[in-house]
Amino acid sequence: MRNSCERFGECVFNDAVMQKRLPKETYKALKRTTEEGRSLDPAVAGVVANAMKDWALEMGATHYTHWFQPMTGITAEKHDAFIKPRGDGSVSLEFSGKELVQGEPDASSFPSGGLRATFEARGYTAWDPTSFAFIKDGTLCIPTAFCSYGGEALDKKTPLLRSMQALNKQALRVLKLFGNADVSNVYPTVGPEQEYFLIDKEDYKKRPDLINTGRTLFGAKPPKGQELDDHYFGAIRPCVGDFMKELNEELWKLGVYSKTEHNEVAPAQHEMAPVFATVNVAADHNQLTMEVMKRVANKHGLVCLLHEKPFDGINGSGKHNNYSLSTNTGVNLLDPGETPNENAQFLLFLAAMIEAVDNYQDLLRVSIAYAGNDHRLGANEAPPAIISMFLGDELTAVIESIVSESVYQNRERVQMLLGVDVLPEFSKDNTDRNRTSPFAFTGNKFEFRSLGSSQSISGPNTALNAAVAESLCGFADELENASDFTFALNALIRRVLKEHKRIIFNGNGYDPAWVEEARKRGLLNMKTTVDAAPCYISEKNIALFTKHHIFSKAEMHSRYEIRLEKYVKVINIEALCMMDMARRMILPAVLEYSKEVAKEAEFKKNVSTSIAVDTEMSMLEKLSTETASLYAAMNMLDQAIAGQNGDLELMEQAAYTHDTILAAMTEVRKYADVLEGLVAKKYWPMPTYQDILMYV
Ligand code: ADP
Ligand code: MG
Repeated sequence: MRNSCERFGECVFNDAVMQKRLPKETYKALKRTTEEGRSLDPAVAGVVANAMKDWALEMGATHYTHWFQPMTGITAEKHDAFIKPRGDGSVSLEFSGKELVQGEPDASSFPSGGLRATFEARGYTAWDPTSFAFIKDGTLCIPTAFCSYGGEALDKKTPLLRSMQALNKQALRVLKLFGNADVSNVYPTVGPEQEYFLIDKEDYKKRPDLINTGRTLFGAKPPKGQELDDHYFGAIRPCVGDFMKELNEELWKLGVYSKTEHNEVAPAQHEMAPVFATVNVAADHNQLTMEVMKRVANKHGLVCLLHEKPFDGINGSGKHNNYSLSTNTGVNLLDPGETPNENAQFLLFLAAMIEAVDNYQDLLRVSIAYAGNDHRLGANEAPPAIISMFLGDELTAVIESIVSESVYQNRERVQMLLGVDVLPEFSKDNTDRNRTSPFAFTGNKFEFRSLGSSQSISGPNTALNAAVAESLCGFADELENASDFTFALNALIRRVLKEHKRIIFNGNGYDPAWVEEARKRGLLNMKTTVDAAPCYISEKNIALFTKHHIFSKAEMHSRYEIRLEKYVKVINIEALCMMDMARRMILPAVLEYSKEVAKEAEFKKNVSTSIAVDTEMSMLEKLSTETASLYAAMNMLDQAIAGQNGDLELMEQAAYTHDTILAAMTEVRKYADVLEGLVAKKYWPMPTYQDILMYV
């Protein structure tokens, strides 16, 4: 029997399978399409489709689906069997080039943010040959982009692919200036670290809040949370170990390079990190990872929670987006390299990253803004809502020396390009890292740490690619026209670093002083989704995306609307769920327990009037007071929910949701959590944080 490593990618129609199964010419033509972005010859598609079908049937598949990523943020699929009636009662098994290349799912129920109102109602899916097809649950899944008939992107993959194209174009212009004649393609590489919680399925079933909203809407803090940090990298418990083993095996079969696994900071929290891949493949794989995590957990009597903040007061879950740029010749452009020429090229790409993050702080911020992530950002456990960059002491010193035109003082040999000798080797040591920074340089890549655990990585990477493409475009414009390249390069790097130094912050991002310091530097601090959402439709950001053909203006507006609509919906569901639990679970439990205490007092009085019932009376009093407060808060929340007005502008609706509904929810929770600490355990109608977090 083959071991699980040997089974790696066995469910994937990958390069090795294609080489084996496709005629040489077809394979070469397909390769040209994927590597050089050429369009695909229909005849080639037909041959590929047939080979895919034969392979899928051998693997036991019966159906195929175009697998796509609508703007819900999760994946969608509609299965079709390979069978085609022959007309004599029998069937043949067929899959044509056309079926491979294009599909027409009935798309009317996916969010379109108004795009479908103005354009054709139906959408179509188009094969993305740069991401391998795979078999999942007996179905051949073909990664596809999803567009309207007018060509508007209705999904998350299309803009990501467009942003990769834009970045590639601009990066190639820059690389050419450095004489890299052999490079024909530059693409972003991403390794997303996925955090998640595992809890017992039986507990989950007893919590309507977890079922309906993915997070607990009630729950007093347990006596022991994560204070002792004894969970981080702790020994992995057997039931979790079994889960991880199967998760790895399942992911490996699908060609996902699941590599690192460990316990995270919070109890019951874990992390999985894959080996990095090209960003659109990484995005597809991350969607698969989240799906497989849920499925495998279920098989083990567990539930995998991907919400950003399942438990109040306990660390939330993020997704660290490790990002770099690679050439098709295997050079990591954010690796400083060893020679002055490599260093200069590195410094230029570094300058592009710095300028991009500074100029498009707002865009990066909005790319990670939604109801779930609002609970994390800026809450002293995740990066702050202010976007800044950590470069570490060494690199910052290099930059200081460039800006101040002094010689970097670390080596004996002095001054070549840029007043910098060969750059020092940067430590890639974990301990040296700043974990409070939203955007940290880690030796040869950046780690964008603000993404939420449940979100698709496509949006943030589309924004990042666009911003970097714009910087590189400006650089290329300037350098292509320079009469003295080295001189112009020096001047450009120096100027850019000087202008955008404010975005660099190596200190503690959790420190309240940073908020003030960031304000002085003119950095943005958008605390909530409502604050950030307008960035989608600012003139500056629309100009960026339209210039690089990543989003049209209409597509940006659609994203803006969808984001706000979803925000309002999510919080409305939470509010309704909260009311329901408070009314039908918590209040009855509190009343029942109060009755029990009252009965006890009465019983004692009946036995003898000389027995003191002060304790019972004081317990009752406390219970009554808190119950009254809870009830009043519930009435407020009820009114807040009733006060919603669907006729208002989306922005006003979202602001109301935040200011009125969320605020009312906080009050309800406050009193309910106090009552949890007063009511006898056996009366409490749901598993507590203690029950849920401490036993998995
Ligand atoms: P840590 O938790 O300390 O940040 P991990 O090992 O958990 O480190 O994760 C590092 C992630 O960065 C991995 O997913 C890894 O594949 C990814 N990575 C490494 N090099 C690159 C690169 N050049 N581009 C993108 N991602 C990278
Ligand atoms: Mg990390």
